[in-house]
Amino acid sequence: MRAVVYRGVGVVEVAEVSEPEIEDPRDAIVRVGVSSICGSDLHFLNGKTPLEPGETIGHEAVGVVERVGPDVARFAPGDRVVVSFVIACGGCWFCRIGQTALCEDFRNLGAGIFGGGLAGAQAELVRVPSADTNLLSVPDGAPDERAMFVGDVLTTGYYAAARGEIRPGETVAVVGAGPVGFSCVQGALARGADRVIAIDLEPERLALVAAAGADAVNASERNPHTAVAERTGGRGADVVIEAVGSAPAFGRALEVVRRGGRVVVTGVYASETVEAQLGVWWARGIDVRFTGVCPVHAWWERTMAELEAGRLDPSPLVSHRLPLDEAPLGYELFGSRRATKVLLIP
Ligand SMILES: [Zn+2]
Ligand SMILES: [Zn+2]
Repeated sequence: MRAVVYRGVGVVEVAEVSEPEIEDPRDAIVRVGVSSICGSDLHFLNGKTPLEPGETIGHEAVGVVERVGPDVARFAPGDRVVVSFVIACGGCWFCRIGQTALCEDFRNLGAGIFGGGLAGAQAELVRVPSADTNLLSVPDGAPDERAMFVGDVLTTGYYAAARGEIRPGETVAVVGAGPVGFSCVQGALARGADRVIAIDLEPERLALVAAAGADAVNASERNPHTAVAERTGGRGADVVIEAVGSAPAFGRALEVVRRGGRVVVTGVYASETVEAQLGVWWARGIDVRFTGVCPVHAWWERTMAELEAGRLDPSPLVSHRLPLDEAPLGYELFGSRRATKVLLIP
């Protein structure tokens, strides 16, 4: 079968690889209908996250179950499913309390040795371990192109909004209007925010979130602190969702939140550090919540229901649809920010 293969820093190609087999009785093999390129795939391409040449890549996919192992109870060949970007065991203490992204056996598809050595989803077929946990049925009303987002970015945004515990009448600010920020905007509106202010520097991203109902603020033109204050009677936002993952974005989130407000940090951090004057946070009574990786499994049914109801719709994010064979072009477009989301169709 064909799959996207990593050849070395900056180089991917589509090549023939061996077909996945059932290796564990809980496995399913899924025939991929649509996969896509994610920001974290670029970290492999750029050499920021290690991957061995020859390994396959990709973790976002929707498709049809082709085969299942004898211990798979919830799925059968022919079922249309979306794959979780977190591969969890489903049985450990953390999984049992719904914190599946903290699973004792946390893995990712297409992420090399640090992802547990699982093959990637940018392929014709993909093996999904613990299929009863890591697959979700896709209802007829949800086309592949939209349902695919439920396995990753859309649920991440919806979960971040949920962690903000938004109450009716509240104003939410979202720092960062990339695909996760976009999903946070839709999630915040779906969860009852009165107004969502989205802050970014790129006009194209701001146009997308504005079309989704956000009040878009271009931080290169306006001071976001002033812009948020003007819209909230001088107080600041009740809830701020940080969807970038950089020290300046974290600082921005603390700057635009009101006294006693909630800051939800969903941007990805690794070794960044910030200096915190704890007395300021304490006196302002700021409630900072780090989401970590989204526990998709605990939230994706709700996200799918919102998608079916039309309150979440990731389709404006899709800028390119390419045949799988043109994946290298897709990586080039996405890597140079000429694409917001590239779908790959085997
Ligand atoms: Zn992803
Ligand atoms: Zn687990």
